Amino acid sequence: MGHDIKSNPVSNSITLSSIFIRNKDGSYDGDFGYSRASNPNRSILERAIAQLEYGSEAIAFASGMAAITAVFQTLKPGDHCIIPDDVYFNVTLLQEDILSDWGWEFTRVDASDPVNVEKAIQSNTRLIWLESPSNPLLKVTDIQAVCELVNDKEILVAVDNTWPSPVLMNPLELGADISVHSTTKYLGGHSDVIGGCVVLKEKGVLAEKVRNIQIICGAVPAPFDCWLVSRGIQTLPLRMRAQTQNAQELAEFLYNHPAIEDVFYPGLESHPGHEVAKQQMKNGFGAMISILIKKGEQAAKDIVHRLELFTPASSLGGVESLVEHRRSVEGDRSTAPPNLVRISVGIEDSEDLINDWKHALDSL
Ligand SMILES: *Cc1c(COP(=O)(O)O)cnc(C)c1O
Repeated sequence: MGHDIKSNPVSNSITLSSIFIRNKDGSYDGDFGYSRASNPNRSILERAIAQLEYGSEAIAFASGMAAITAVFQTLKPGDHCIIPDDVYFNVTLLQEDILSDWGWEFTRVDASDPVNVEKAIQSNTRLIWLESPSNPLLKVTDIQAVCELVNDKEILVAVDNTWPSPVLMNPLELGADISVHSTTKYLGGHSDVIGGCVVLKEKGVLAEKVRNIQIICGAVPAPFDCWLVSRGIQTLPLRMRAQTQNAQELAEFLYNHPAIEDVFYPGLESHPGHEVAKQQMKNGFGAMISILIKKGEQAAKDIVHRLELFTPASSLGGVESLVEHRRSVEGDRSTAPPNLVRISVGIEDSEDLINDWKHALDSL
């Protein structure tokens, strides 16, 4: 993290000014002129995320979706993209409701088998979009294997790394060109800020394009929002460790409970993606779990409100545990199973969390 040069505070100052003073010759003393183009708090955040992801450049946006949109905006009409059949729901909406009108072509595949990705590659394919573990089914994709498919081709591989966070996975180290984050989630970590970021492996034409989209289209994060995410990052490894450990224990408990039909969590040996996840992730398997309730949809809706320590709310990645009936959140076009409940595990005491589920499940 950087420091205010004049007064040297330990915690970063927030520079709210939208404009910076010009010298007589038109130059600026610092790197800043107008805050849509750049701002001290944004620069501090971008440097931190670039380092965490082993990237050469990070470019911050006002939301995760603005960051994702910026990646797709680097393509031209007529370009073809491959996206997973299980993917963050808003990416589906972006594809179906916005980008398809602009002439982008899409193929959705089950990316948990790289052969499906390979089969979908066309002469005009320019982008492979991946999410691992995916949302909400926690499918695991072998990122390195997909990157090897496109080695010498003009195809970019972008990974939405929001769920693992840089603490558990670094897509650029696995061969991807782009890593994307909703900083709203683990990087911010306290459910009090919306933000996003695109991290590029290399400087060059692509990085310049994304930077231009940030500055010209202007979906930039406010200085205070950047400050909040930067502050969140200071405790990111500690939070991830606690949340991941709690999730592993809760997933094992749920897996053995008779009221549960299935548990989707890559930390379980029964998970089809367990071995791949073990190889490409570090420090654990993340803090998101999806489960299927045996008694069906109504029971899945009910249980969300029978828990005491899990707050019924959308989103994920904060210090507090959250739970939701995913299909109710996504609406009519949802492909989530009707009895699926999605859990974001927080930093609370692991035994308390397990007991909360025990009581709720026993009452069904
Ligand atoms: C939340 C989320 C997003 C969208 O981020 P916003 O900050 O809400 O725009 C994208 N991808 C994943 C995996 C997410 O969880």
